Amino acid sequence: MTGLVIAIDGPSGVGKSTVSREVARRLGLSYLDTGATYRVTALACMREGVSFAEEADVVAMVETMNVELVLDPVNPFVLLDGEEVSMLLRSEAVTSAVSAVSTNLEARAALGRWQREVIAREVEGGFSEGRGVVAEGRDITTVIAPDADVRVLMTAHPEVRVARRAAEGGHESGHEAGVHASIAQIRAGVLGRDAKDSTVVNFTTAADGVITLDTTDLTIDEAVGAIVDLARGARP
Ligand code: C5P
Repeated sequence: MTGLVIAIDGPSGVGKSTVSREVARRLGLSYLDTGATYRVTALACMREGVSFAEEADVVAMVETMNVELVLDPVNPFVLLDGEEVSMLLRSEAVTSAVSAVSTNLEARAALGRWQREVIAREVEGGFSEGRGVVAEGRDITTVIAPDADVRVLMTAHPEVRVARRAAEGGHESGHEAGVHASIAQIRAGVLGRDAKDSTVVNFTTAADGVITLDTTDLTIDEAVGAIVDLARGARP
């Protein structure tokens, strides 16, 4: 029997990463943050002076960049040319540029192939030794892993998402880490990125067979518990 695949989608600030990592940790699975593949592409383009308007150059960057994803849910990280760039990937500069990568359809296709390869490797072996993977993003339940054992769309009231992002330090905001951003700036960042992202992928309503988990009134632990229960029910 091959490993378990848990697909989790949702908008920014919903708590996907925190919840996905904890689900993976509890079930002994690896953790694939597909947002990091978009973010590292944006960073690589910025470093190499590749213009996001030159769509073919961005695709070429996806195909040639030297990136390693470490799928440990306790300590996930990303290496670009051997350098640990996880913190940089959350920076305001990358956050505000990333939608230029995700709205490039050829780049999406190339990143999608990479994400599917990672998932295929993890259900046979890889970091999880074949136990499987929790993959999170915007189009995992629909495009990347529509046959996943568990498919969940996490939602939350927009003001709750803004508050969650603010509690994380508000990196949406137009401010560098450590500088305090106003709620209004964070709100504009979160909702603006959702608006751009939703031009290419639907992550606000669940596709057929995808379970909506409204986390507006749930703690992290409750959201994790709900997904772990679904996973246990998926393979009786
Ligand atoms: O989840 P995170 O905020 O790190 O994702 C960063 C960006 O990557 C999103 O704003 C979106 O533009 C893009 N993305 C995507 N499809 C995914 C995951 C992320 O388009 N599956």
